[in-house]
Amino acid sequence: MNTIVQHLHTVHDRIATAARACDRHPDDVRLLAVSKTKPAADVRSAYAAGQRRFGENYVQEAVDKIAALKTDCPDIRWHLIGPLQSNKSRLVAEAFDWVQSVDRLRIAQRLSAQRPGNMRPLNICLQVNVSAEDNKSGLPLDQVEALALEVSQLPGLCLRGLMTIPEATDNSDKLRTQLLELKQLFDRMAEKYPQMDTLSMGMSNDLELAVACGSTLVRVGTAIFGSRNP
Ligand SMILES: *Cc1c(COP(=O)(O)O)cnc(C)c1O
Repeated sequence: MNTIVQHLHTVHDRIATAARACDRHPDDVRLLAVSKTKPAADVRSAYAAGQRRFGENYVQEAVDKIAALKTDCPDIRWHLIGPLQSNKSRLVAEAFDWVQSVDRLRIAQRLSAQRPGNMRPLNICLQVNVSAEDNKSGLPLDQVEALALEVSQLPGLCLRGLMTIPEATDNSDKLRTQLLELKQLFDRMAEKYPQMDTLSMGMSNDLELAVACGSTLVRVGTAIFGSRNP
């Protein structure tokens, strides 16, 4: 078995163990394989083992990879999880299935307008800055509902959920408090927007905690593909 395939099994086991530990069904937590900086061959290995959701951070790198894999891996669902500049929005609207890093109306409007009419609406998560750190992407918690109202009315988009990258801290109580705050907001909003089914939180190092706090989609790079060169 190749290393990536072994790592995928390990990550699935971690997710299942974490889910059972809090009386959740393992299938209620999906896995996004974060393949940023990794070659298309690595995506192929994971694909051959059944992985279908992949996350990328850098638009040009992603667009090249998507094109390279289009024929052999036609049913990959590509998620943009990195910051998005307006001048790249058309490329994203034409190539991706999901954008998890929407944190302002202007970019949402552009993505909606640029989504080709023959494609399904682009799935959107609003990125939330749960730790209220300066210089970090994401909306403050108290602005999420106002943006959701606007985004939910854009015809080229489908509002699917919320995403966060929590503070890099070893203080797991603090982390838990932040993740649970987002979970509460998510539950409240999901009552209003029935298509909202995705709470994207948890990465290689903190996926167990994120699952315990209600994550439905963990984004895992290093634990599948190995460490990245800076
Ligand atoms: C890189 C990245 C990940 C994956 O992080 P790992 O620690 O390698 O699992 C998840 N989410 C976002 C937004 C990222 O940029």
